[in-house]
Amino acid sequence: MSDRIPTVEGQTDAGERLAHRHTPAYQTKQGVYTRGTSGFFQNVRLTAGLVMLFMYYLFPWLNWGDRQMVWFNLPDRQFYVFNATFWPQDLVLLSWLLIICAFGLFFVTVFGGRIWCGYTCPQTVWTQIFMAIERHTEGERNARIKLDKGPMTPSKFRKKLAKHTLWLGVAWATGFTFVAYFIPARELVIDHWTGQASTAAYLWIGLFTVGTYLNAGYMREKVCIHMCPYARFQSVMFDQDTLIVAYDTERGEPRGSRKRTGDADNSQGDCVDCGLCVQVCPTGIDIRDGLQYECIQCALCIDACNSIMDKMNYDHGLVRYATEHELDGGKTHWFRPRLIGYGAAMVIMCVAFAYALTHRSTVEAKVARDRGALFHETKTGDIENTYTLTLFNKTSFNEVYEVNFEGHPSARLIGPASLELAPGQTRVQVYQVQIAPDMLANSRLPISFIVEPAKHPENEVTIESSFIGPDRWK
Ligand code: SF4
Ligand code: SF4
Repeated sequence: MSDRIPTVEGQTDAGERLAHRHTPAYQTKQGVYTRGTSGFFQNVRLTAGLVMLFMYYLFPWLNWGDRQMVWFNLPDRQFYVFNATFWPQDLVLLSWLLIICAFGLFFVTVFGGRIWCGYTCPQTVWTQIFMAIERHTEGERNARIKLDKGPMTPSKFRKKLAKHTLWLGVAWATGFTFVAYFIPARELVIDHWTGQASTAAYLWIGLFTVGTYLNAGYMREKVCIHMCPYARFQSVMFDQDTLIVAYDTERGEPRGSRKRTGDADNSQGDCVDCGLCVQVCPTGIDIRDGLQYECIQCALCIDACNSIMDKMNYDHGLVRYATEHELDGGKTHWFRPRLIGYGAAMVIMCVAFAYALTHRSTVEAKVARDRGALFHETKTGDIENTYTLTLFNKTSFNEVYEVNFEGHPSARLIGPASLELAPGQTRVQVYQVQIAPDMLANSRLPISFIVEPAKHPENEVTIESSFIGPDRWK
């Protein structure tokens, strides 16, 4: 083995690196054969990816009481998340959640660039799995290049078959799991294999299987480069104090290969021009060319370069997370108005969301006065108003609601004193309120209906309305 760096397996020559720098807009898969690497950031990515995958694949198999823990029951319009049940009426909470996610993404991007893309985006996570399968079945980068260039042999066929079978297995598991969030997983698994599942279930599993197979197996970085809008507007969000994966030109240049030890040439920078940072890059770019929109900030080039720095006995950090200000020799401003603004907006929204979630009523109640007649007189001479009470049980159990009335000591409420509703049931009930005319001081009285759930009286709801009498009592 030569004692010069680069000496790593699969060394790219200058021409290959140049090809990487000038990849066409629609690069073919031939252009990116990523090399496996390990290191601190790769471990962080793996951990983040595994946690997400673990949750995604496991949740549909866990129960909460007698139902699936996370289950979006579309036919009954009930959405279960852990112990909470949501209804279409709670859609506003989803809007809030999306706004929080948007502010969270802005905050993280202004602070640390495309952290979401590099560590937790599903496209990145699934591509990682597919790449790991590829390496396991076909070998490392050089072996794969050689395999693809070579003719079809029984060995190549076996390797390709193994890779595509595993890819399809993961893709199917992804599609099945997605549908299992809408159809209980235990039912679906039996129905799916016995041909009893609905056409829609087969269709969605098929669509997700094909989509995952193509996205993570073939399109990979092309999704990030050409399809994802986030890559396009990131430059608007970055500023000179945003952490980015950057090559320290000051320290690295002039680059060049050299002996592994005893390098006395002080005219050279620390970059040994090994090209490893390019080989590991999933988007096939050269970070030494500066910040590029294709960079998803996965930090694989940092781990790769640090491994070379170790071999050379140089300090880590030739490629590292840094800000433009820091690279220019200035000071990074961590606390800046935009970052504080996004952070504050996110925190306020989170607090408001948590409050709305924990103080969410388990009953929805509305009262509408009869618009056809303001009032009428009963046979006994009392003044009567008619109201329609609409109740919606937002719990996941049967509930009895006591209906009471406040507003006038001599008023009588005519109608059922309690109503029983099944989970998700809406009930419309007509009530009359009667008041003796001589007890009416005004033609309009403020009144309230009080609805008290028997099992959870703390969720009592008060609905304001009014009682109208004739003008002569003004
Ligand atoms: S340049 Fe580095 S951080 Fe950017 S995508 Fe490539 S490997 Fe990841
Ligand atoms: S930046 Fe690091 S990994 Fe990239 S070519 Fe230079 S020494 Fe090698």
